[in-house]
Amino acid sequence: MQDTDPSAGLIDPFGRAVTYLRVSVTDRCDLRCVYCMAEDMTFLPKKDILTLEEIDRLCGAFIALGTDKIRLTGGEPLVRKGVMNLVRSLGARIAPGGLRELTVTTNGTQLTKMAGDLFDAGVRRINVSLDTLDPGVFAAVTRWGKIEQTLDGIFAAKAAGLAVKVNAVALKGVNEDEFDRMVGWCGEHGFDLCLIETMPLGDVGGDRTDQYLPLSLVRSRLRQTWTLEDTDYATGGPARYVRVKETGGRIGFITPMTHNFCESCNRVRVTCTGTLYMCLGQEDAADLRAPLRASEGNDLLYAAIDRAIARKPKGHDFIIDRRTRRPSVGRHMSMTGG
Ligand code: SAM
Repeated sequence: MQDTDPSAGLIDPFGRAVTYLRVSVTDRCDLRCVYCMAEDMTFLPKKDILTLEEIDRLCGAFIALGTDKIRLTGGEPLVRKGVMNLVRSLGARIAPGGLRELTVTTNGTQLTKMAGDLFDAGVRRINVSLDTLDPGVFAAVTRWGKIEQTLDGIFAAKAAGLAVKVNAVALKGVNEDEFDRMVGWCGEHGFDLCLIETMPLGDVGGDRTDQYLPLSLVRSRLRQTWTLEDTDYATGGPARYVRVKETGGRIGFITPMTHNFCESCNRVRVTCTGTLYMCLGQEDAADLRAPLRASEGNDLLYAAIDRAIARKPKGHDFIIDRRTRRPSVGRHMSMTGG
């Protein structure tokens, strides 16, 4: 067995420090967004899924290896039974030199119940997915969601003291006429807005090329209404931010299709089965469940994580293949966690 010194941290072959872990705590979701899941998804059997205690231990190992930011995602993280126990346990790890930030990406449906508990556990910022402000479009995009539930959740989060960033996937012919309104609404309520290009992840039962809308186009359209000022604001992630002069709010653009952002990548993703993906846009993965379950100590786990980081690729190569119409990566976003 290889000896791993946790204090050395995780540095990939391209010199990038890996300090940010996204954890998908469940593959299940109470919505079925058309670009994310097929309508008739088959979910994983319970025995394959890490317990919340195992996820907590896994996160602890990453923190020991230098991870200072953890995002819980899914599926819908807040529908996993008992998830607040995990959030509280991770929140207790927030400390100087340890975990710096614990955050969540959610569709907001559970926030009226859970926002206060998230804040009490140490969460200070959350991302909420909201692709539209139109109730009919929301129902169509999510296949059955009710927009009021998500909007109530967003305002409950704000009231609880959580900073909210609204994530919207840009979808051709679906929400492309709504971004002016969303910029105004987010500015009015003090939410950052992050626009995302659809990524070709998983078979969703439709044609990806039909959904794809380049953000370069969205941005130039927004400029007709809003003054977008460049800013050096950065969260260490792939979003490039501008400030909206009229509202004072920020808009982030995540452009995996039109602009590759891999050079500053500091993150890896682990699924609810303990599979570690070193890149969202590549298939290579490492199993962490076996080393996790093989012994009570973390040495096997450290060694497996180390070996995996040594294979972190330079970048993704998303393409929407116009000939085969197939996604370039077979697994769904709900599996890897967005
Ligand atoms: N259920 C939570 C939510 O709705 O935010 C967390 C999981 S969801 C997979 C995380 C993010 O991934 C959401 O903002 C969603 O819009 C985004 N997403 C899902 N599939 C995508 C795709 N194919 N391209 C781009 N973004 C995607």
